[in-house]
Amino acid sequence: MQTKMKELMITVIGAGPSGNYFAYLLSKKGYKVQVFEENSRIGVPVQCTGLISEEINRIARPPRECILNRIKKARIISPGKVEARVELKENIVVDRAAFDLSLSEKAALEGAEYYLSTRFEKLERAGRGYLLRMRGKGQSTFRSDYVIGADGPLSTVAKEAGMYGNRKFFTGMQITAKYSNSNEIEFHLQKGGISWIVPIDEESARIGVAFEKDANKEFNAFLKKVFGDKYRKKASEKKVAGLIPKFSPFQRVEKRSIFLLGDAATQVKATTMGGIVPGMKAAEALSAAIQGGASYTIRYLAKVFPDLYASFVVRRIIDRCSPDEIDRLVTLMGEKKVKDVLLANSRDRMLPLGLKAMANEPKLLYFLKRI
Ligand SMILES: Cc1cc2nc3c(=O)[nH]c(=O)nc-3n(C[C@H](O)[C@H](O)[C@H](O)COP(=O)(O)OP(=O)(O)OC[C@H]3O[C@@H](n4cnc5c(N)ncnc54)[C@H](O)[C@@H]3O)c2cc1C
Repeated sequence: MQTKMKELMITVIGAGPSGNYFAYLLSKKGYKVQVFEENSRIGVPVQCTGLISEEINRIARPPRECILNRIKKARIISPGKVEARVELKENIVVDRAAFDLSLSEKAALEGAEYYLSTRFEKLERAGRGYLLRMRGKGQSTFRSDYVIGADGPLSTVAKEAGMYGNRKFFTGMQITAKYSNSNEIEFHLQKGGISWIVPIDEESARIGVAFEKDANKEFNAFLKKVFGDKYRKKASEKKVAGLIPKFSPFQRVEKRSIFLLGDAATQVKATTMGGIVPGMKAAEALSAAIQGGASYTIRYLAKVFPDLYASFVVRRIIDRCSPDEIDRLVTLMGEKKVKDVLLANSRDRMLPLGLKAMANEPKLLYFLKRI
């Protein structure tokens, strides 16, 4: 049975972290994997801060040359300027282009075949498998038994398979600028989104926002807060922008032999907008499902969904809190009982983190009424 499975063609659309890591996991096990990427270079253009929790080291330790910074401290700041200084497990900042490329090189070394500058456009059923129509140089039609949509927030695979749904987005915007700092991340908690400062080194940082509405206005307001009147000059520097899907608990992730991974499946934390770790965890769940045993949906619901759902609940609480309540929430985050939990638990394990924080500081239970 396993040998027969290994003769099947598995097609991955999208060479981001989710698609590359999935391609690596299955080609390492001897499966035939082909990856299609519409851009001519993997990882480019970059639309990401590259901040990843230590959880990545369990999944796929990034090579040293991809790591730009290591950070163990953060300031969580409310709109009313209440501040909590917390210590975290080590977070890293990666060069996203180099990180994505390193994952694709690992997959290619295991035998995955890459087609760059090739855009997936259409899907048709053909017997038990699919015919995939591509636009790019070379061959335009490919047969496949399995199709993996790891093609980002606007996933064409999800659209073609009827799994796109009524998804919503945050718009992320960011600049990399000179900014003297003491190697602390700043997370500014706000209704409808978040703003951040992530140091790259002592003298520079990634400064950005992600909001569901009025992202450009929020971006300018945040730059003004950080740089004062010089903000217009900063805002005109090279800005990167991209869509971040809002996690949907109702998102379908598989249909027949078509599966969605990462941003294509809205697998992004609604608190900090991080999607690298959840997408790669989902890749592990899908790889295990294809190799046998429980379905992808069941594995995803068991291993990835709970923390994404907990982040979704926290987002909802923040969105429904009054400014005074956000101040109170941040004050509680700065208390030792909660700080201890933040230090001992990964940001990517939001469910245990949230439960332990509430057990240590029952005043946090108050915020559940905002769900
Ligand atoms: C401003 C900003 C900052 C962010 N910062 C962070 C952060 O610090 N940490 C974090 O964890 N997350 C961050 N994110 C989110 C993170 O970038 C995504 O969650 C992550 O890239 C998702 O990986 P993925 O592999 O699922 O999809 P992507 O990285 O989006 O990869 C999808 C790939 O598919 C390709 N593709 C799309 N359509 C097709 C097609 N039809 N045919 C062929 N190829 C196709 C694309 O070119 C792309 O290469 C940020 C996002 C933004 C916008």
